[in-house]
Amino acid sequence: MTKIAFIGLGNMGSGMCANLAKAGHDVHAFDLNADAVETAVAAGANAAATVGEAVSDVDVVVSMLPAGKHVHQVYFGDDGVTAHAKSGTLFLDCSTIAVEEARDAAAKAAQAGFSYMDAPVSGGVAAAEAGSLTFMVGGGKDGFEKAKPILDVMGKNVFHAGDPGNGQVAKIANNMLLGISMIGTCEAFNLAEKLGLDAQTFYDISSTASGQCWSMTSYCPAPGPVPAAPSNRDYQPGFAVAMMLKDLRLAMGAGDDVGADTPLGNHAQQIYAKLDEDGFGDIDFSGVMRRLKGEL
Ligand code: NAD
Repeated sequence: MTKIAFIGLGNMGSGMCANLAKAGHDVHAFDLNADAVETAVAAGANAAATVGEAVSDVDVVVSMLPAGKHVHQVYFGDDGVTAHAKSGTLFLDCSTIAVEEARDAAAKAAQAGFSYMDAPVSGGVAAAEAGSLTFMVGGGKDGFEKAKPILDVMGKNVFHAGDPGNGQVAKIANNMLLGISMIGTCEAFNLAEKLGLDAQTFYDISSTASGQCWSMTSYCPAPGPVPAAPSNRDYQPGFAVAMMLKDLRLAMGAGDDVGADTPLGNHAQQIYAKLDEDGFGDIDFSGVMRRLKGEL
């Protein structure tokens, strides 16, 4: 049993926190939203009224926050985690934030005597609830060894990606590829259908040929071939356009920082940004299919 503070009990964090409590850990939960704290308590956690109350007597802090500014405020702001945690407390930030923000957080935490690991996740709300997330972890080896048993409770794959920030690197590079491959898959199904080849027949052929990819076989954007895919429930997410856009923006920003050319990532970002601007940020990202069909 480990004493854990959990900060950020939103769509993702609530399921992750519940799994830690269910596994018998002593979890102290905090969120700005009091209803979210109540839900965590119903799932077996203890309520904390402030960040300080949550972290003052724990061995590990887990956070799942919207963006880098929230992470920096929660850890390093006035009355934040570093002002209250015992020395030696391990920080595990599972939020998706910029690579540089994560590296900066690791450096600031180290200066204050803590180890900070970036541990962003792949997998959505269903995986957070089921405890089947994939974690990509950046930070020191010792921190990773300490983090692994905690992350194993919330995920089914836990990878050490290397130095601080490398978890975020893995996450944004993976999601850039996903964002691009989803658009390509939508284009292929739309082209095939317009030329007279139905989605199921094209799927049967392409899923065993060289066009095969995760966007097709696990998340087919054309309704029919993959029953669990959002395309079969009117493109309800799943993984929303706005979330994909966030990750692509992080990837494009990081690419600019190091001079990595990402022409397709850039184009993909524009396509998701247009959908978002047009009011479709909350549909599933495979909803690009509907745009290609002229339905949006
Ligand atoms: P969310 O907005 O549902 O939850 C964030 C929670 O953080 C909210 O409950 C909010 O009240 C809380 N919060 C914000 N500022 C706070 C503060 N200062 N102190 C305490 N609590 C604070 O977001 P989410 O969908 O759970 O996503 C969380 C992170 O996970 C994001 O970085 C996102 O990019 C990443 N992510 C999300 C998904 C997904 O499918 N939703 C998938 C993979 C990764």
